[in-house]
Amino acid sequence: MALDVNTLFLVTIYVEAMLGLLLLFAWIQNASIHAVAWWGSAHLLRAASVMLFGMYGSVPDAISIDLANGILFTAFAVMWTGARVFDGRSIQPVYLFGGAIVWLFACRMPLFQESLDARILLSSGLITAYTWATAYEFWRGRSEPLVSRWPAIFMLFAHGALFLLRTPLSLALPWSPTNQVFDSVWLSVLSFEALLFTIAIAFILLAMAKERTELRHKTAALVDPLTGIPNRRAFLENAAVLARRQAVEPQPVAVLLADLDHFKSINDRFGHAVGDHVLQVFAMSASEALGPGDLVGRLGGEEFAVVLNDVSREDAFAAADRIRAAYAEAAAAVDGHLIGGTVSIGVAICDDGLLDVAALLAQADEALYCAKERGRNRVEVASLELIMERARDAAGARVAAASAA
Ligand code: GH3
Ligand code: MG
Ligand code: MG
Repeated sequence: MALDVNTLFLVTIYVEAMLGLLLLFAWIQNASIHAVAWWGSAHLLRAASVMLFGMYGSVPDAISIDLANGILFTAFAVMWTGARVFDGRSIQPVYLFGGAIVWLFACRMPLFQESLDARILLSSGLITAYTWATAYEFWRGRSEPLVSRWPAIFMLFAHGALFLLRTPLSLALPWSPTNQVFDSVWLSVLSFEALLFTIAIAFILLAMAKERTELRHKTAALVDPLTGIPNRRAFLENAAVLARRQAVEPQPVAVLLADLDHFKSINDRFGHAVGDHVLQVFAMSASEALGPGDLVGRLGGEEFAVVLNDVSREDAFAAADRIRAAYAEAAAAVDGHLIGGTVSIGVAICDDGLLDVAALLAQADEALYCAKERGRNRVEVASLELIMERARDAAGARVAAASAA
């Protein structure tokens, strides 16, 4: 079966231009991801290049082949730059225009002009290099959990590999005796693949940008912007997930409630900005002291919570005291001010592993109250005696208040 190359060219121009405009339109709607504008421009450049290819015979070869190829390589370089911009890397003008410049320079050499193999080799090499470089950029950014990153990497790699194979394959496939360049089966195959690639990659790139936006919204809703750790909502959600896991496979857990000591006075003496840095120092000290299975969150203000997974009472106390000591050391001086920051921590233990976060937080709160009462900068573990003691204190206070009234 032979595909009509002219029809394919016409369809490709329309499709490339349409996808380019679609991507630019998407970028205008959500201008925060500039890479989408680069990718849209890459499609428009490809449309222009295919249009020039289509003029073969009616315009000089220097335009329909040399210039068209130069624009095509730039289009792939623009797509690669978009991938760099997408992951916050710099634009590299030398490489952006390097492919086209090398090509146009080579075209001025008669030996290169006459050798179809050399021309195919260089053009395939350039397209493969840019396509694989694009795949590599996406692969480098893989720590950002975007599912659509992977089909993008795969497609770019496959597309590049196909172009690289072009030289050996072009010798194996039959050539038409009438017009070697335009009627070849290989050109039909390549053009058809390029058309499918361009459609697929446009949608995958768009999906990546959309996924990134959604991920950022989700992250913004769950991460405390000041400290970068989970906020109250995220902490409670994470704890609920852990509780469901615990129901199947119970392990002893501990809940820690930490409240920075005299924090209001830190704000009053050193200013709110220093207070903010102190909160960041605590979040960092706590995060560094925790294991991978543990949870941490900022419940609000200067109050933080931690869930320690699979710990004994002694381990839980030791972990809480490590956090206390690490923070006391890190917050001794902040931003050049002698803050002398300390923290009080209440610990609640759940030996049977059936994690009831709300109940444990309430118990940890009781223990935290005792830590504050007993002089701050200390860890208290909730126990039956402690709860009884608190209840007695509360009853005593009520009696005192009633007799005073
Ligand atoms: P205690 O030792 O009993 O815990 O005393 P405290 O001063 O730490 O407790 P208090 O609840 O009186 O004060 C908490 C202060 O935390 C009051 C509030 O202005 C401040 N605060 C809450 N959120 C932030 C924040 O995001 N940044 C800063 N800088 N301060 C905050
Ligand atoms: Mg407080
Ligand atoms: Mg406090």
